[in-house]
Amino acid sequence: MPSHITDKTASIVIVGAGVFGLSTALHLAERGYRNVKLLDKQAYDLSHYSYEKGCDAASADINKIIRSAYGAQFQYQELARDAMTKWKKWNDEVKTGKTVPAGFSADDALFINNGCLTMTSGSEMDQFERETIQNMERVGLRDTQLNLNDPSDVARARDSGFGFVVDAFNIKNKSALLDTRSGFVYADKACHFALHKVQKLGVELVLGGSKGTFAGLLQDAGSTTKGVLTADGKAHKAELTIMACGGWTPSLLTQLDHLCETTSGSVTMFKLPPNNKALWDRFAPENFPTWSHDIRRGKYGGLYGFARDPSGVVKIGYRGTKFTNPQTQADGATRSVPATRWTREAIRQIPLTAARVINAFVQEQLPELLECEMTTRLCWYTDSYDNHFVIDFVPDTSGLMVATGGSGHGFKFLPNLGEHVVDKIEGRKNDYLQHWRWRSLSPEEMAYNSIMEGTGSERSLHNQPLTAGECLSGRLSRL
Ligand SMILES: Cc1cc2nc3c(=O)[nH]c(=O)nc-3n(C[C@H](O)[C@H](O)[C@H](O)COP(=O)(O)OP(=O)(O)OC[C@H]3O[C@@H](n4cnc5c(N)ncnc54)[C@H](O)[C@@H]3O)c2cc1C
Repeated sequence: MPSHITDKTASIVIVGAGVFGLSTALHLAERGYRNVKLLDKQAYDLSHYSYEKGCDAASADINKIIRSAYGAQFQYQELARDAMTKWKKWNDEVKTGKTVPAGFSADDALFINNGCLTMTSGSEMDQFERETIQNMERVGLRDTQLNLNDPSDVARARDSGFGFVVDAFNIKNKSALLDTRSGFVYADKACHFALHKVQKLGVELVLGGSKGTFAGLLQDAGSTTKGVLTADGKAHKAELTIMACGGWTPSLLTQLDHLCETTSGSVTMFKLPPNNKALWDRFAPENFPTWSHDIRRGKYGGLYGFARDPSGVVKIGYRGTKFTNPQTQADGATRSVPATRWTREAIRQIPLTAARVINAFVQEQLPELLECEMTTRLCWYTDSYDNHFVIDFVPDTSGLMVATGGSGHGFKFLPNLGEHVVDKIEGRKNDYLQHWRWRSLSPEEMAYNSIMEGTGSERSLHNQPLTAGECLSGRLSRL
């Protein structure tokens, strides 16, 4: 039951300070709401979203792709273009000293525009890339999409400062489309920046330990949600509760069964040897683009990667198979739940399938990485069955909303997603919200809809459970 709110003094509790919760808190505060509380089990005010310091949310990562290329999905393209404008403003806020969280200096940037190169095996571009070109043309940006198999586009790339992309990979027998507007953000830093803004705007933060851990909803005898209970036994009363717990949401809010599922992506991090200047230069963001390979081509594709970070880590991810971790829950139902290096059943490895696909690509294209020390990570997505977000009031109750279903492409919208969540809260008309409504899909609607960032594999309904013993970590050259 929608329970729209426009009273700026209304009490609102958001559970989860990943991209969805953070962006919601930010925009509520920017629109003047004065009684907003943001809870998270992670002490992000201290850990600054660092994976190395125990954070395992999807948002707590070293880097994420920022792109506006969205194939036929024109609305997401425009939403991403709006987000990019805001990412650039955030860069300026750091540079000019307007917003400087602890540990930041004026030299820090969040968004790095080093281009995104989409490669596919074979000389034909996928339909997704062809549709991106058409949709960029609609908004006068055809020139930002460069076909690196076309000599005149190669010349354009060199003239516009993207010559380094032309030489980054061996693209013989591959289609290669460079999106010059794209790149990546330093994800943990970006969340730290947003949390700082949220705090400055007066949002109350309740972070870390039992005081920040959601333990249940406060509900009256009718069907009204009155806030949440945290693991320390404290009641946080609220007129509106928003659940934004990423991969944990489907097991905390079981009404999401059949709409969202938690699946993992496999991530490898190669540590460049500290004294190998040539390698540090080769993978520096000014010399190496953000990239993807056969990203929508199933099990043997689904690869994407980044330039090195300031500590010399080169990250490559695999999304060609979505793995699940099905667990029987208190209500007897089986749901996939995150298993990470930091959960009770810790996992430090990735499935062999993922390691093999990454290995094959690295052998062919980036053999310098083979002998580097490698660590691995499972990072958990919240996939909706049609890959659209889920931002709506929960049916059959009032006072309860959900903001989740990032489906592998939510991070780029950190600066602007919350605007739309607040529109939903206030009952405003907004074209995006129709796609993000609470829904149950017909079989036809469930047909695969490839808008995701790092995917293209089987649909969520056909995921593969993680199999113990079939995993790898260490060095890729061992395979
Ligand atoms: C491997 C991988 C690669 C991706 N790559 C990209 C990309 O390149 N570009 C892009 O745009 N998007 C990308 N995405 C998608 C993007 O990261 C997500 O859409 C987005 O980060 C999801 O944010 P969230 O807030 O929904 O979830 P999360 O970031 O997972 O945050 C959920 C929060 O809820 C908290 N929480 C959970 N349970 C509780 C509880 N009981 N009590 C209190 N707090 C709780 C968690 O601690 C966490 O902070 C990727 C995702 C993955 C997994």
